[in-house]
Amino acid sequence: MPNPRKTNLQDEDETSTCDSCGIRSKKGWSFGFKESVPEGMTDGGTVVKCSLCAIRHTQMLRRSLIVAIVVGSILTLLNQGDVLFAGDWNNPLYWKIPLTFCVPFCVATYGALSNGRR
Ligand SMILES: [Zn+2]
Repeated sequence: MPNPRKTNLQDEDETSTCDSCGIRSKKGWSFGFKESVPEGMTDGGTVVKCSLCAIRHTQMLRRSLIVAIVVGSILTLLNQGDVLFAGDWNNPLYWKIPLTFCVPFCVATYGALSNGRR
């Protein structure tokens, strides 16, 4: 009867090679992203990246930026709209508004990374 438990030797083999820089990373430290579908193809592949390359993945950063602009604008209007439209700009707004845009950016980036974690 085969032993379903993995040995340490098998765990060491569970590495992925980064498609960008070629570094091998252990399980849990590499991330998979769907590639954009080329013309004429029905399905794109998956590109595997190490953690350093994953946080610089352009498509993910672009998507996170769009989420930050949309959600950050809505949250800013909801939370600070009365102050902004009244023209009563005070000093805390200069850190509150940028932070309002940073939060959805971080959440979207974390979500993308945890979804693509391998
Ligand atoms: Zn890499």
